[in-house]
Amino acid sequence: MPRAHNFSAGPAALPTEVMAEIQHDLLDYRGTGMSVMEISHRSSTFMDIASRAEHSLRQLLCISNDYHVLFLQGGARLQFTMIPLNLAAPGEVVEYVETGIWSQKALREAERLRDAKSVASAHDHIPSESTWRRHSGSKYLYITSNETISGVQYHEFPSVDSVPLVVDASSDFLTRPMEVDRFGLIYACAQKNFGPSGLATVIVRKDLCPEPLEHESEYLNYSTHAKSTSMFNTPNTFAWYIAGLMFDWISAQGGLKEMQTQCQLKSQKLYDLIDRSALYRSVIEPRFRSSVSVTFTLVDDALNRRLLDEAENAGIHHLKGHRAVGGFRASLYNGVPMQAVDALVEFIADFEQRKS
Ligand code: PMP
Repeated sequence: MPRAHNFSAGPAALPTEVMAEIQHDLLDYRGTGMSVMEISHRSSTFMDIASRAEHSLRQLLCISNDYHVLFLQGGARLQFTMIPLNLAAPGEVVEYVETGIWSQKALREAERLRDAKSVASAHDHIPSESTWRRHSGSKYLYITSNETISGVQYHEFPSVDSVPLVVDASSDFLTRPMEVDRFGLIYACAQKNFGPSGLATVIVRKDLCPEPLEHESEYLNYSTHAKSTSMFNTPNTFAWYIAGLMFDWISAQGGLKEMQTQCQLKSQKLYDLIDRSALYRSVIEPRFRSSVSVTFTLVDDALNRRLLDEAENAGIHHLKGHRAVGGFRASLYNGVPMQAVDALVEFIADFEQRKS
């Protein structure tokens, strides 16, 4: 059966090889006569799946023993809550760099819980570090490495030594190498680059994980999950298993450098076409354009519906931009093959020719 060209922002395309492996294991995981989703998280079979997934991720990102690697539920958004609760005490200052809708949402949640400050605010670029309004006494500085909705990405991470740097890497996690040691905490939801929705991976420096105080939530505490190897309550076992398959798939492709090369090649094909075109426009400053979330608009808005309909008819799906900004968005995550991007480039070039 042919696979669709799927540019969804998440849940998103997974590699066909990984889907086939899941299909192969679905009714009988390695001779057990049971599916991974049917076995206890405490069984040696699942414990092995879980620890191998953690090991593979540690290898991919060279994560040292100074960090916990957690597989939690609640997607990325639960981390909007857990980060301020764990890394700062009530009344303490925490800093956020607003570069788009996701960092703004994270800031809004932090404001409810702690003394959260915006150090800079923009939506189509990353404000230069020299303009950031820093606050003394801050417990961490928070950034969003790729703003999934607008398509703004940090290509260089800021050098922040004074406080732990926290990054929401939800939409570009494992699409490039990262120096984990530069961060206090890195987190990402799985549904874009390494699995199905609901699961989030949190890589957090051990010294940032105090035990919960008497009056604090036990569940929302990182050390609770670290002590129980992310099995404080029944984990999302099936998503965890798929994440493990994805980590192995990434490493078999050549690792994170290769993922980065592929992402750059895929996005460059689209940006080259957009920049040459009289019909398509990118509103993001070129040096901050994302290599995973390529957004564009049409010079003539009246053609929007037609482009989406014709794309669907051509087997090209989920090009519609986020409802907050409109336009179009092609998400080029790890699971999106080059052939899909080639089909998209051919389709949008042909659409322009036919409309001019
Ligand atoms: N952060 C970013 C950068 C995202 O793109 C998303 C989801 N699109 C989220 C957070 C929220 O993820 P979830 O729906 O898993 O909570």
